[in-house]
Amino acid sequence: MGAFQLAQGASASKTAAQADKRSGPQKAMDKLGLIRDIDLALHLPLRYEDETRLTLLRDARDGQTVQIEGVVRDNRVEMRGRRQLIVRLDDGTGEVLLRFLNFYGSQQKSWAPGVRLRVRGDLRHGFFGREMVHPTVRIVKEDTPLATALTPIYPTSAGLPQAYLRKAVEAGLARASLEEILPASLVPAGWPTLREALHFLHHPSPEVSVTVLEDHSHPAWQRLKFEELLAQQLSQMQARRERAHLKAPALQARRGGLHEKLLAVLPFELTAAQRRVCDEIALDLAKPQPMHRLLQGDVGSGKTVVAAIAAAVAMDAGWQCALMAPTEILAEQHFRKLVAWLEPLGVKVAWLTGSLKAKTKKEQLALVASGEAQLVVGTHAVIQDQVEFARLGLALIDEQHRFGVAQRLQLRRKLESSELEPHLLMMSATPIPRTLAMTYLADLEVSTIDELPPGRTPIVTKVFADTRRPEVIEKIRDEVAKGRQVYWVCPLIDETEESDQALEEKAGRVSNKRPPLDLSNVTQTHQELSEALQGFGVGLLHGRLPAAEKAEVMGQFASGALSVLVATTVIEVGVDVPNASLMVIEHAERFGLSQLHQLRGRVGRGAVASVCVLLYASPLSETGKSRLKAMAETNDGFEIARRDLEIRGPGEFMGARQSGAALLRFADLAEDQAMIGRARAVAEKLLRDHPRVAEKQVARWLGQKSEYLKA
Ligand code: ADP
Ligand code: MG
Repeated sequence: MGAFQLAQGASASKTAAQADKRSGPQKAMDKLGLIRDIDLALHLPLRYEDETRLTLLRDARDGQTVQIEGVVRDNRVEMRGRRQLIVRLDDGTGEVLLRFLNFYGSQQKSWAPGVRLRVRGDLRHGFFGREMVHPTVRIVKEDTPLATALTPIYPTSAGLPQAYLRKAVEAGLARASLEEILPASLVPAGWPTLREALHFLHHPSPEVSVTVLEDHSHPAWQRLKFEELLAQQLSQMQARRERAHLKAPALQARRGGLHEKLLAVLPFELTAAQRRVCDEIALDLAKPQPMHRLLQGDVGSGKTVVAAIAAAVAMDAGWQCALMAPTEILAEQHFRKLVAWLEPLGVKVAWLTGSLKAKTKKEQLALVASGEAQLVVGTHAVIQDQVEFARLGLALIDEQHRFGVAQRLQLRRKLESSELEPHLLMMSATPIPRTLAMTYLADLEVSTIDELPPGRTPIVTKVFADTRRPEVIEKIRDEVAKGRQVYWVCPLIDETEESDQALEEKAGRVSNKRPPLDLSNVTQTHQELSEALQGFGVGLLHGRLPAAEKAEVMGQFASGALSVLVATTVIEVGVDVPNASLMVIEHAERFGLSQLHQLRGRVGRGAVASVCVLLYASPLSETGKSRLKAMAETNDGFEIARRDLEIRGPGEFMGARQSGAALLRFADLAEDQAMIGRARAVAEKLLRDHPRVAEKQVARWLGQKSEYLKA
């Protein structure tokens, strides 16, 4: 991080002094992360406008965006439906009407007959002849020169006018130090230098095709993408190297140890894939460096038991384990399962969530601090500051992609705080496409369970318009009459926010100030189903219920006392009730692909054939249609993740959007796969032969973002 401080030092003090009197546009620039000169220089145009040439009206076609120059013949304010200013412009080869629905009196005055104007806009055929509505207008003289480069249009935000931003970028570009950091031998031949590339992309000459610029295939773009990917690879590799210097307890699996006892009491045999990943994990645990491993496997592939076996190895070696889940419902389910498996074997399990009563919490904290509890299960509360472990040896994070960046950073700090760092195993049912694994997660080992436990029947997915709701309710009646169970999921716009709030609440804040949430959808559906299915238990579950009530409802559904569970996405991840065979998702068009896949994964966990019904409200958008189609076509989580990445892009996919840290800005994971490999190879060389260069590259490109990338 030293290099980063160096790079920022000079401008940082200036920024602090000016902090109180920053103007609106400057604040907006801060928000966009445009702080250092280099940030401005790297803020590239979204697109360009060609103001380098004039088109004669004689040659211009309707529908074209053109720049023309002519003399005002007359102007007048007219009422055509509403008040508007109409200026007649003559360029010597033809005439065009400029129409302004919003205008100032001063504009009418200055655009007087005889004045020469240069205007740019879309030409179209209007009621009274050719016209342009709201063109950009400049008053010029006969010899005012044309622009010599394409005009950049920058990504901006409210309160930051294009002209202001353009000036700031111009100044940043002029001041930024853009010397070549990379040895020329490592840059592919034929590419411009970084300075050339940036100057070119901010002011491309008009001969270049705008398409080549806008589709990012120009060598200047290639250079930038390469630089960015290189910085990203370097920061990941550095993190990996740093980790190699850390010390962790070496946890050796003992013959006849606790994990073998656990295997003996399980009601099933591990699959070959489960055995393989258990071995991979055991090898890591036995090393004196902290494990940093992701365990991925499709929904229902049996990750929990693998985590339990890893925990057993650690506890057997005399160390504590912590298992953290993103929702209270899931944490509770893990708690119950682990208590059932492990307490008979003499393991004491503690339970920590934010909703515990102060007294209980104190007791649980004491169990953890004394080391009496070998295993702690809970939500985010497990890594709160007041939690002190006697000897934490292994941290297990379930559904890790559901934790926000802030929580991941907090977890990292928690793990770093002890002298011997604990091992870390993260689990996710949202498999990571290869390109992502090579970029953001280059600092992570990955184990994959690529096989489902035997005896599962594939889920059949059906897509219905919600007009077929009565038919679906009939189907539910059939299922429950056969003793099966059914989930009915309703979307709740704010539910994710709710779960974040729940996490905050666990950080010690009180919960009674939450905004009201629109629960009418779930509650109405609950009522409707209760009436339609008399004689069967229909439960209601959503994030706003008190924790105890949530646990009770979930418990009743798990035990079979309830036949139907009407729920929001609180059941999205992890919930495991094998007797459930029908899942209905209402307003399926409102959910993302991965989310639908996760929800669908709540069924198909037993031997009975399961069905997932996706109900949608018409009309369905194109992306909505393709999402639901994808769901009906495949049950493969990897395929779903691939399509989801296409639709949403990596930022959202990684769950990092709350951080405001843009991930890759220039490179595109889908398009630039070959470039990732190349950047990786160069990164390895740099770290080996030119460590100072590597450090400079990371500082220039990532600044404070490199922290987020490690989270
Ligand atoms: P996920 O990978 O989605 O977290 P779980 O760990 O919840 O999956 O496991 C899904 C279900 O499969 C659970 O009921 C679990 O007990 C069961 N299960 C796990 N492994 C096996 C196995 N090898 N054979 C049979 N059932 C298994
Ligand atoms: Mg799970």
